[in-house]
Amino acid sequence: MFQVSLIVQKFGGTSVSNPESLKTVANKIIECKEGGNEVVVVVSAMGSSTDELIDLAEELSETPSPREMDMLLSAGERITMSLLAIHLNNLGYESFSLTGSQAGITTTSRHGMAEIENISGERVKEGIENGNIVIVAGFQGVNKETREITTLGRGGSDATAVALAASLDAERCEIYTDVEGVFTADPRIIKEAKLIEEITYDEMLEMASSGARVLMARSVEFGRRYNVPIIVKSTFNNGEGTIVKEKIMEEAIVRGVTHNDKEMKFTLFGVPDQPGIAGKVFGPLSEGGIIVDMIVQNVSKDSKTDISFTAPTDQSEEVMEVLSNLSNDLNAEGTDSDENIARVSIIGAGMKAESGVASKMFSILGKNKINIGMISTSPIRISCVIPKNDMNKAIEALHEEFISE
Ligand code: ADP
Ligand code: ASP
Ligand code: MG
Repeated sequence: MFQVSLIVQKFGGTSVSNPESLKTVANKIIECKEGGNEVVVVVSAMGSSTDELIDLAEELSETPSPREMDMLLSAGERITMSLLAIHLNNLGYESFSLTGSQAGITTTSRHGMAEIENISGERVKEGIENGNIVIVAGFQGVNKETREITTLGRGGSDATAVALAASLDAERCEIYTDVEGVFTADPRIIKEAKLIEEITYDEMLEMASSGARVLMARSVEFGRRYNVPIIVKSTFNNGEGTIVKEKIMEEAIVRGVTHNDKEMKFTLFGVPDQPGIAGKVFGPLSEGGIIVDMIVQNVSKDSKTDISFTAPTDQSEEVMEVLSNLSNDLNAEGTDSDENIARVSIIGAGMKAESGVASKMFSILGKNKINIGMISTSPIRISCVIPKNDMNKAIEALHEEFISE
């Protein structure tokens, strides 16, 4: 018997920024539907409207309540979803839109960075059974206990799309964006960056977590956990894009170079060098929802040590508050923050079996007179913190030596 496939298509902000692009998006959806598939669509807020909503709130308050911020930001996706349904209806296609909460997306309670816990998707399934194109607002859900609307963190519509694809047992999740797929480096910075045709979940997860914002890291985690193939491609042409999956044909030593200039370095000076001290420092940071990334503890002197770490710039106020409390509690010698840093990383599954990759990276940076402040590694990633001003030079040099050669 002929089997109908279910496909989840997600369209990011730049793909839905005005009525013209919404028409282009509708054509993609119709093409998929007319090809004999069931289609569920996830949309982001139009263009940069999430940023504009944040700016509006900041004009009125320096400390807007996280609950109200989620009420505000979740409105962005509602505008897109209803406009798209209105347009599809006008073209003669049965379609309706659902908020995250109406789609049965339940999350943890942390405003601004909630995590999806479950998707019941009842109304989505009913819509599909009745032949509708169901459009779901990305980036949002509801917490059952607090009954509050939550958002999933920047770029969170990717997570909505892949989690929805997993819960509906979709054949694949297609992420449509403003570039042709995942590249060996950000194509807006490196003109020679090449499109990656296939990449594993593990490599993509490292690329996303180290700065390749084309996919939100959590969406890749869902893909890996539930084995949903993710295809990243352009809304504006018909290229094949990139497929993210479990196993691929070709292993690369270095698959991609990423960068992140949205983190700061924080230091707590002169803390007592005793067992349990790291727990005392990082416990309160994690309780405060701070996403700590690289950590360095200096060699101790006179039984005191300095602890430095990186965390997102947009959490700097929360970090400094926790650190100044800690500085008092632990009788430390003060705190510092440094905005002038960036992180560059190289990622590739083949580096597990290859020696000398790290030293090659360090010598490339050294040859370019770029000072390394911190280093961290995973089996398939090496990251260096460098001065922000050197970031583009570093990405270019690393891409040239590891990928273009
Ligand atoms: P959307 O609005 O569709 O969600 P995003 O702005 O979140 O789009 O992500 C797409 C952007 O990610 C691209 O415009 C590109 O500049 C950036 N990007 C960073 N690193 C990469 C990479 N390695 N490959 C592709 N795009 C990347
Ligand atoms: N609109 C949200 C953002 O700008 C979510 C998304 O686009 O994925 O972060
Ligand atoms: Mg995005």
